[in-house]
Amino acid sequence: MAGNWKMNKNHLDAILLVQKMAFALKEPDFEAVDVVVVPPFTDLRSVQTVIEADHYAVQYGAQDVSQHASGAYTGEIAASMLAKLGCSYVLVGHSERREYHGEDDALVNAKARAVLGADMTPIVCVGEGLEVRKSGGHVAHVLAQLDGALEKITAEQARRTVIAYEPVWAIGTGEVATPQDAQEVCAAIRTRLAELYDGGLADQVRILYGGSVKGDNIARLMAQADVDGALVGGASLDPGEFVKICRYRD
Ligand code: PEP
Repeated sequence: MAGNWKMNKNHLDAILLVQKMAFALKEPDFEAVDVVVVPPFTDLRSVQTVIEADHYAVQYGAQDVSQHASGAYTGEIAASMLAKLGCSYVLVGHSERREYHGEDDALVNAKARAVLGADMTPIVCVGEGLEVRKSGGHVAHVLAQLDGALEKITAEQARRTVIAYEPVWAIGTGEVATPQDAQEVCAAIRTRLAELYDGGLADQVRILYGGSVKGDNIARLMAQADVDGALVGGASLDPGEFVKICRYRD
C-alpha cells in the first residue's frame, strides 16, 4: 500500500503524519502488508528520521526523479540522491506529471531506468483519461504506456518494478473504478508482462490500483485476482483512513 502525499505537508507536518500512521501499524500482526509513504522531496529527511528512530516497518519514496545522473539540471533531483536518503521507491509517470509537465512514455522509461540503476523500485503509473475510457480504448492505451515505460528494461529489472494502474478519471474525483474495471486492466497488464518477459515473472510483479481508494472500498478491490495493492492519494493524508486501508484484512 503506497500513500502519495502529492504537494501536501511541510517537513514538520510530515513528522506528525508519519508518526501517527507508522505507530498504528506497528503491531507484529501487521507484517503481511508492505507500506510505503511517498512525501514531497522536502519531507524525506524528516520521514527518514522518524522511521529509523523508531524502527518502523514503513518504507518511503519520492514522487519524481530526474532521468539524469548529475550535472547542470537546476531544480532536479537525481536517483542517487534519493537512494542516499534511504528511499526504496520512486513514482514515475504519475498522471499529474504526464498532464502538467508533459512527461511522455520515453521520459517515463528514462526515469524508470534511472531508478532501477540506483537500486530502488520504480512505481510506474499508467492509466487512461475519460475520453479514452468512453471510447473503449482503455486497455490498448494502458498497454501502449506500459510497453513504452518498459523499453530496454531487462527481466531482472522488470521483476523489481511495480506497476500502478490509475485511471485518470478516478484520481481525486471520488469516483473509484469498479473492482471489475480495475481487474480487467490489471489482468491485461499481467498478460502483457508475460508476453514481454515470461509468465513466472508476470506473476511476481506487483500491480497496484489507484484512484479514489478509501477504507470502505479497498477490500473489494483487493479481492480481485490481479490487484496486489493500492496507490492512495487523498486518503493517505489522513492517518486513520490510510491505516484502515493498510488493515483492510482486519
Ligand atoms: C493518486 O494521485 O495517485 C491517487 C490515486 O489519488 P486519489 O487516491 O486521491 O484518487
